[in-house]
Amino acid sequence: MRYDRRKAEARFGHLFSVVPGDACHYCGLPSDGHDHRPAVHTLHKFSEGRKVTRREVEEHFGPCRLVPCCTICNMGIGSFEGDDDNDRRDEILGFLDFYDDDGPTKGEWSFGAFSVACEILDARVEGLVGDDVYALPAVGRLIMSHALRVKKGEWKDLEFFNEHRERFASWLCAEPRRKSKHFLAMARLESYKFKQGVYGR
Ligand SMILES: [Zn+2]
Repeated sequence: MRYDRRKAEARFGHLFSVVPGDACHYCGLPSDGHDHRPAVHTLHKFSEGRKVTRREVEEHFGPCRLVPCCTICNMGIGSFEGDDDNDRRDEILGFLDFYDDDGPTKGEWSFGAFSVACEILDARVEGLVGDDVYALPAVGRLIMSHALRVKKGEWKDLEFFNEHRERFASWLCAEPRRKSKHFLAMARLESYKFKQGVYGR
């Protein structure tokens, strides 16, 4: 059965209830819309064209939720479903390219890149540089990776990062479409086929 996002949303929309809040469910930064959990496409595949009841859907997936989500996390998740929220956070982390490009540690998490980004944030705190440092992909990767790992319960939250998250969030909002552009820069992607959805893309 062909997938028509609009039709599928009209068909399954009533199953979803909105999770209140204005912070992204995955990273905690300000949200820009909602993410369907499970994805509408997943319900479409599950139904295989037959009529499904709410009970059937909930027995299989649990309650359907519309969780507050920021543009960056929404792009990182794309059509990925995963098993749970942390699985989806890992998927987003995979796009925040903090990995070595070559050498013996190719593909591994780059502690060097991480430390440089930390030094840049220190310099911002000391007032040596301005808010334009948030435009650097490495800085965004650091702030977003930290935020996602805090939400995963892996890292402790710190006042230092709290402050940078706020500044980074205002920098992201200062220009239209900056969030999606910055996602592409952090992920080192030239372009991205947007998930059709509540964002109206
Ligand atoms: Zn987010």
